[in-house]
Amino acid sequence: MLVVENLHAGYGTSEVLVGTSLEVKQGTVVALIGANGAGKTTTMRAISGMLKPTKGRVILDGKPVQGLDASRIARLGLAHAPEGRKVFGPLSVEDNLLLGAYSHLPLFFGFRSKAVGDLERVYDLFPRLRERRQQAAGTLSGGEQQMLAIGRALMANPKVMLLDEPSMGLAPVIVQEVFNTIRRLKEAGITLLLVEQFAKSALEVADYAYVMEHGCIAVEGSPAELHKNERVLAAYLG
Ligand code: ATP
Repeated sequence: MLVVENLHAGYGTSEVLVGTSLEVKQGTVVALIGANGAGKTTTMRAISGMLKPTKGRVILDGKPVQGLDASRIARLGLAHAPEGRKVFGPLSVEDNLLLGAYSHLPLFFGFRSKAVGDLERVYDLFPRLRERRQQAAGTLSGGEQQMLAIGRALMANPKVMLLDEPSMGLAPVIVQEVFNTIRRLKEAGITLLLVEQFAKSALEVADYAYVMEHGCIAVEGSPAELHKNERVLAAYLG
């Protein structure tokens, strides 16, 4: 569903990605792990068009999308939930979710009924958001805000979702909640690329994983294979 080939990207004159390649098959959860500064967030930005790659290809559902604007890539089916939860605090949970739909759907006749269908799907996945649909998003707990950020990305009905460090800054018990959320997404058949600092937990939910070092993929394999790799064990899973 998503294929990244030999991706190069950076900031100004500093090149961060130096030939990253990875694949996310339909209906799977793929984890991207690695040390701080290895280039995981930059990979997500270069896939979603927030950062223009200087070389390489990004194929989404069979179509090359590298070099297109982020909004166009989003309309083609890629949702990027970036680091930090970035919900609109004063707005209600429901309005935050509807904003996720407005940014992708044109305001055509029937928009409302389409959006309502998507809302129900998100609420079925996250009943806690349904209970709190009228509550101001800024007053949700950290874990609930993360659920909302994920729900908002889902409102666009993406073919592939990029989730960047969903557990960042959350207390350990809430981190477990976030991983439960990711399990629910997986059960719902959502195709997911997940960047996580908690490599162990990420490997528990992932079908396949890539370890990134210095701007490219150093090791890849199933979670079981990575658990057998001594270097990966010592550096990331110890
Ligand atoms: P972390 O786990 O700490 O989030 P990461 O693997 O996601 O790390 P990136 O955020 O992709 O790493 O950063 C890769 C490199 O790019 C780092 O050296 C970082 O300092 C640099 N970098 C990231 N964003 C920018 C920016 N906006 N301008 C310049 N350099 C940047």
